[in-house]
Amino acid sequence: MARTALPAPIRTLRTLLLGLVLLLCGATGQAAAQLREVIVPRDAAVIDLLGAAQRFPATEEALSVQTAPDREGIIRRIEVRARDPDSRPAGWLAFALRNETTEQMERLIVAPHFRLIGSGVIWPDLGMQRITALSTSQGETPQRQDEPLADAFLITLDPGSVVTVVGELRSSRLPQLELWRPEAYKERFTAITLYRGILLGISGLLALFLTMIFVVRGAVIFPAAAAIAWAVFIYLGIDFGFFGQLLTIEPRWERVYRASTEAVLAATLLAFLFAYLNLNRWHVRYVHIMSVWLFFLIFLIGFAVFNSPVASGVARVSIAAVAAVGMALILYLAAFRYERAILLMPTWALLCAWVVAGWFVVNGDWTDETTVPALLGGLVLVVMLIGFTVLQQAFSGLNAPQSGVPDAERKALALIGADDIVFDWDVAADAIHVDGAMEDILGQKPGALQGPASGWLGLMHPDDKDAFRDALDAISDQGRGRLDLAFRLKAHDGSHHWFNLRARPVLAPGGSLARIVGAITDITDERRAAERLLHDAVHDHLTGLPNRQLFLDRLEAAVSLAASQPQLAPVLVLIDIDRFRNVNEALGVSVGDSVLLTAARRLSRLMKAQDTLARMSGDAFAAILIGESDPATAQQIIAEMRRALSMPVPFADREIFLTAAFGVATFDAAAPPKRDEFLKRAEIALNAAKRGGGDAVVAYAPGLRGERPERLTIEGDLRRAVERDEMRLLFQPIVRLEDRTIAGFEALLRWEHPRLGRLGPNEFIPVAEETGLIIEIGRFAMERAARELSIWQQALDVDPPIFASVNVSSRQLIRHDLLRDVSGVLSRFKVKPGSLKLELTESLVMENPEYAAQILAKIKGLGAGLSLDDFGAGYSSLSYLQRFPFDTIKIDQSFVRQDGRGARPVILRTMIALAHDLGMTVVAEGAETESDTLELFQFGCEYAQGYAFGEPMTIEQARKLLGISPRVFAA
Ligand code: C2E
Ligand code: MG
Ligand code: MG
Repeated sequence: MARTALPAPIRTLRTLLLGLVLLLCGATGQAAAQLREVIVPRDAAVIDLLGAAQRFPATEEALSVQTAPDREGIIRRIEVRARDPDSRPAGWLAFALRNETTEQMERLIVAPHFRLIGSGVIWPDLGMQRITALSTSQGETPQRQDEPLADAFLITLDPGSVVTVVGELRSSRLPQLELWRPEAYKERFTAITLYRGILLGISGLLALFLTMIFVVRGAVIFPAAAAIAWAVFIYLGIDFGFFGQLLTIEPRWERVYRASTEAVLAATLLAFLFAYLNLNRWHVRYVHIMSVWLFFLIFLIGFAVFNSPVASGVARVSIAAVAAVGMALILYLAAFRYERAILLMPTWALLCAWVVAGWFVVNGDWTDETTVPALLGGLVLVVMLIGFTVLQQAFSGLNAPQSGVPDAERKALALIGADDIVFDWDVAADAIHVDGAMEDILGQKPGALQGPASGWLGLMHPDDKDAFRDALDAISDQGRGRLDLAFRLKAHDGSHHWFNLRARPVLAPGGSLARIVGAITDITDERRAAERLLHDAVHDHLTGLPNRQLFLDRLEAAVSLAASQPQLAPVLVLIDIDRFRNVNEALGVSVGDSVLLTAARRLSRLMKAQDTLARMSGDAFAAILIGESDPATAQQIIAEMRRALSMPVPFADREIFLTAAFGVATFDAAAPPKRDEFLKRAEIALNAAKRGGGDAVVAYAPGLRGERPERLTIEGDLRRAVERDEMRLLFQPIVRLEDRTIAGFEALLRWEHPRLGRLGPNEFIPVAEETGLIIEIGRFAMERAARELSIWQQALDVDPPIFASVNVSSRQLIRHDLLRDVSGVLSRFKVKPGSLKLELTESLVMENPEYAAQILAKIKGLGAGLSLDDFGAGYSSLSYLQRFPFDTIKIDQSFVRQDGRGARPVILRTMIALAHDLGMTVVAEGAETESDTLELFQFGCEYAQGYAFGEPMTIEQARKLLGISPRVFAA
């Protein structure tokens, strides 16, 4: 390929450039300009020569320069040859010194091997011998002095002489060149040696100390901290020439050591960061990044032998990176309140500051001579701080005591750990001492609880004083036993806090009582919770109003009080919100709940202190107004209640209008009614109000009683219902929650009334009970259920056998017929023992517990099972519960349904646990949703019944559900 000729202009440019280079090269061999003279003053300790010295590149092994003009103005030319003829010098240097005085002067020309200032970050200058030799134009050749860290030459300047000095350079870099008065140099050297000695001493001691701690306490942070201390110690030792003096290090190796120690410093800092922050615990990623980095730095330590500047440069960047990354990590972890990160923050901040300062110095931005000692001092300070941080760790409670804690100390620690308050009563001196924490809890001023025991009585709740005094007296008199006492103390704000004191007497060596020592626990929260539970049992969950139970109790009290004090004249008001079901259906239960809550609030605002407002059931409220003997005032209050309810309830973008039926009964002091009669009157009035379509107030009048045409027809029709086969028995499945299989059914009655249609049990069972027809109807239900059960059991041979439960009412229970009926039914239909269950409500057995206990035991003996129906809705007297032979408890729907806050009552879980403790199985009633079912299962409930699994169904549907084919039962 032909070579293309360059265009003419470029050719000329090339020629020109070539000429310029040749010219420059020629100039290097000779001193082009005259050397600058440096006048050497008599008193100056040191002067800078670098500025005045002229540098020549290393083109030749000899340098020929013109000397500075001497006293006579004669300029000569001298030629200096390289010391070693085989190796070419790294450069040349020339300057002239003039002694203007009349005395002979001796001076030191000093070039340090290493200078941190301006040494550079990347490819740093690590120092080496700078000057091979010096020659002079006249007088003796300057003599090399024995200096470990610098090239120092002693030169003699005759009075009035001008001496040209030519130096052969060993290194192309010459960071510093100074002329010193020998005494001044020595002085400074001594001063700096002292400082260096101190630094070296401190860092050496730190390193030793941290190593010792590591031996005592094995945690990994100690060797990591000790390693940093050792790295700094070695670095300083090299920098100060300390090791050079001890071990005669060849200057060539000095830079290798310097670079390696820098890498070691970076590595130890990294390792410390890792160990101290426990980074392996936070994320594997940290472990990976850190270990790669660490291995790289370790590799760098070795690499320094081959190329120290590169190794050192990387190490310096690494130190800066460790500091920066470390700071970021520490801030990040401190944000999560990681205690170690917070503790390390000041130390690391200092390290970062040190790195920044070091950066400026190394880059030559800060050239002040004092910065270097300061920087090295700073490094030792960083190590010291690291040492302190680590020591704090070693001796603080952060490291849990490993073993060997004495028993007493362990107990004391346990007391602290349990947040208990130490109680100590010196009986002889009658001085109580408790932790100040107790005064803090009460907000009392310090010392309020210290001193004689009687001092406590002043703060004690009046009801607890006697018990407290008695208990202390008893234990101090007897000198043995144990104190376990709950009491209330008054707080600063007047409220009372509950405490529990558990203490034992401590005897003096002679056997006499010395003190009573123990612990006090603040049990206020537990007590409040217990009170709450009690409150919840008699209050409505949604509105917080008293529930039916408490209401009946209060009514009882009001009635009996009014019988003796006629002026009390209670007025009983029953309130039933009209068509409330529509609200629930149209807007959802939660809106219904908040409407009820609003209604409850509005009504309760009208109550006086002695009045009671209660929620009787879903949408029914009741009020006892006390002391309104004037009918007009009572009427006025009722009118206000009506108005309060009828005010629109805002909901989203519309309003809900409520009306209610009010039934009022006034107390007739002349013929005081019993509680139930009083309630009945109000109910009659309420029914009358509802019959008229609601939104009305009806006061009870005896005439209203007769007004029951409906009821009369029902009574009449009911007599013929069984004969005419109008009664239907439906079956509602009861499901085993564990595997969702059908465990049994509850038999529920319906009446197909020829005119009124299908009637629910609530509409006719009360009538049947009153008229005694329930005996016949109940027998019918039991027979039907038993017959069906035997068919199921023949068709399905499962274990445990399928069961059926039949409801039994109070009238049935008090008749001896029940026993006969049960034994008759059981003998006629072959059902497995215990699989036909009778369901009785709690209120039913509680009416006559002694009698019920006997009858139930007999029924059980006949081979029937017993279920306690609607458990929790009534009294739930736990002591009685144990005495009845129930095998199953059916928890009332009201507990299974979620309350207004979407939470199931805590009490549900307790009831299930209780039933299990009593050895009974649990059926939850009214499980309507999947979430009900799930939660019930989680609570440990075995069976559930409710719309979630099926509504009451016909015999055919039930059989189908069980998978029994018609052929089987036809047989
Ligand atoms: P009970 O024994 O507590 O029966 C459960 C009632 O809850 C049944 O109402 C049933 O239909 C209803 N129920 C079942 N699952 C759910 C549900 O998921 N959500 C809701 N809201 N309700 C559910 P029913 O059939 O109207 O019976 C009412 C009460 O009448 C029965 O309460 C029982 O005490 C009585 N009763 C029913 N049949 C007889 C009987 O043959 N003899 C007697 N003496 N009383 C009976
Ligand atoms: Mg039942
Ligand atoms: Mg029930």
